[in-house]
Amino acid sequence: MCAICEATRASETGSGSGGGLLHKSAARGAGASGTRAQPMPRSTGRAGERILIRNGHVLSMDPGVGDHVRADVLVSGKSIEAIGPDLDAGGAEVIDAEGMIVMPGFIDTHHHQFETALRSFLADAILINDGKPHSLFNYYEHILQTFSVVYRPQDVHINELFGSLSQLDAGVTTVMDVSQIHHSPEHSDAVIAALKEAGRRSVFGYFEGWGDKTRYPGDAARLRKQYFSSDDQLLSMVMGGEIYLPGHEESWRIGRELSLPIALHVVGTFGMASTFDDLAQAGKFGADNIFIHMTGMSDMAWEKVADSGAHVSLAVPIEMTMRHGMPPLQKCLDRGIQPSLSSDVECTMTADFFTQMRATLTLQRAFLNEAALAGEESDQHLLTSRDVIRLATLEGAKGLKLEQKTGSLTPGKEADIILLDARAINVAPLNHVPGAVVTLMERSNVDTVMVAGKIRKWRGELVDVDIDRLRGELEASRDYLFEKAGIKQDLFRA
Ligand SMILES: [Zn+2]
Repeated sequence: MCAICEATRASETGSGSGGGLLHKSAARGAGASGTRAQPMPRSTGRAGERILIRNGHVLSMDPGVGDHVRADVLVSGKSIEAIGPDLDAGGAEVIDAEGMIVMPGFIDTHHHQFETALRSFLADAILINDGKPHSLFNYYEHILQTFSVVYRPQDVHINELFGSLSQLDAGVTTVMDVSQIHHSPEHSDAVIAALKEAGRRSVFGYFEGWGDKTRYPGDAARLRKQYFSSDDQLLSMVMGGEIYLPGHEESWRIGRELSLPIALHVVGTFGMASTFDDLAQAGKFGADNIFIHMTGMSDMAWEKVADSGAHVSLAVPIEMTMRHGMPPLQKCLDRGIQPSLSSDVECTMTADFFTQMRATLTLQRAFLNEAALAGEESDQHLLTSRDVIRLATLEGAKGLKLEQKTGSLTPGKEADIILLDARAINVAPLNHVPGAVVTLMERSNVDTVMVAGKIRKWRGELVDVDIDRLRGELEASRDYLFEKAGIKQDLFRA
């Protein structure tokens, strides 16, 4: 055992007065874990390369693989080859995962990454000007009607890239990017170039754009052919089919003609309930639909959603803070619908998934706990930390039609794997793996991130990313967007 580990052990057991200090000073140079001095294994995800992630606490999220207090994950090329204790993997490069939770990367099924330069701008705002109190400062008028229309392709590119890398840093290995920014084919190409450059599993959500150069929805056929003709790549495509826009029937028709899933926001306060009812009654829903939010919808429509096998994506913190209506989590669960989780917009809330999971867990438990205190009998299941991890991983993969590739640690699936540091000061000592992930951890605990067998974050640092340069580009984009939109920058706006 090395000096750092010995000191850590001594300080955790209280058997060494100077141990904690020794560890702290050593950690400044070597990282918070004794394994951090290890050089990064060569990893490109190419066939023939093998990496053994050794001696981690494995939370596979696959019932067939199960949980392992201590096990190895063998990665071969871009895929998971085997999971189990003491794997024999002669020739493989080894990642020491002692003290780490090894689990599938998180999956965000709805994130507007083009808004990254506007982070925190709308922290205190609501969704639309609904004529009710506090609605003058709102998302629809400020972001969609003011900022988004002035974006150039280069703004799209840096916003998308920075947002992607930030989520990768937080262990979110898959995203559906909802890019409502297709003002021209060049804007669309810029989105795809950035998603590709980020090296993350990304679903390109082809949503609307504004102005006379927009080719939405008709350009979908070109994009599909040019960028998404192969299934053997990190990028896939979803068609946006917003029902609050005129002509959504055409978007749905094109999406189905191109065999693309069709995603859309469904928000009662946006006046969509009657259109959604009409579609429900006309039998238009299918397993290819991804419905986002689903706040304020009729029971009839919910039954049709459940019957159709459509997917539901919930952005719980956003729905609560922006007045979308109460997140319909229990409505999903009562009908056997397993929703996925989504971050939505960083102009109002962080896109890290620890926040998503905690909000989802505490909201559902608050309602059921209150009912129990009121003396109500209920057979409803009180959500557990493992449940919300499943929503944040496997259910997201299913919703995006990617469950053959990702969402769990399963031999044969691609290796989208995160290592979470369970020895960190905000987590140790480890007493319950899913509980630690959901109730204690945050992005600083994301030690290592792998996407399709390629290491993208190593021991706390993104790999091959010049953050200073990218931040400079993002700030320049932010300055342009505010100026062009005629909105004053004000760091302490009341
Ligand atoms: Zn959204």
